[in-house]
Amino acid sequence: MFFVTLYIFTIGLIFGSFFNVVGLRVPNGQSIVTPRSACPACHHTLRAKELVPVLSYMWQRGKCANCRTKISSLYPCMELLTGLLFVVSFLLFGFQGETAIAILLVSLFMIITVSDLAYMLIPNRVLVFFFCLFVVGRFIVPPTLWYDSLLGMAVGFGLLYVIAVVSRGGMGGGDIKLYAVLGYVLGWKVVLLSFFLSTLAGAIGGSVGLLIGRVKRGETMPFGPYIMVGTLIAYFFYTPIINWYMNLVNL
Ligand SMILES: [Zn+2]
Repeated sequence: MFFVTLYIFTIGLIFGSFFNVVGLRVPNGQSIVTPRSACPACHHTLRAKELVPVLSYMWQRGKCANCRTKISSLYPCMELLTGLLFVVSFLLFGFQGETAIAILLVSLFMIITVSDLAYMLIPNRVLVFFFCLFVVGRFIVPPTLWYDSLLGMAVGFGLLYVIAVVSRGGMGGGDIKLYAVLGYVLGWKVVLLSFFLSTLAGAIGGSVGLLIGRVKRGETMPFGPYIMVGTLIAYFFYTPIINWYMNLVNL
């Protein structure tokens, strides 16, 4: 079990490194395969030992090996997070089909978080690609109620659409489409909890941002990372959260 977990963590680190590339290149219409990764400052092509997830960043002390320009700590953080979330997926679902769905969901979030932080957009091509995978995935690992995916999609899309209209553009088109896809994978109950927790995370994140002066009042902020936090908590811990809540209201 320890070695399987370690293996999944390592795979997660490697995929995380790939998701950084995808998230940064797809919105620009660049190929995700060529050219090889290079330093954005000096354009020196990264050698094999500069491409090791997390470790390269550590032994280069966060700087380019060639020109010593600082490398964003976002890269190793996303790699570590991917590794950890792949492990959480495996530990929660074990050797079941749902683990594959969970890993796909984590992958989608890693890519769109990078895009959203870098460009404030969620690329359509990434959403369409993952939606196709989820349609196949939910065919192989169906929800308990056969119509739950379609209902979830309608709820996810409808909810965000109404909020976009009411808030007059407070919610981007990418967020609406993302919630339609999430609704399809999660079903209507989990997508509702995801929405609740994401807005809660956004409100907390926004307030903290204002307090520490990172965000200015009225400034738009990327909502993607909050959707990731809210959705993964809702998806991984739906049952304990609902049980806890039920106990709370019964008291
Ligand atoms: Zn460089």
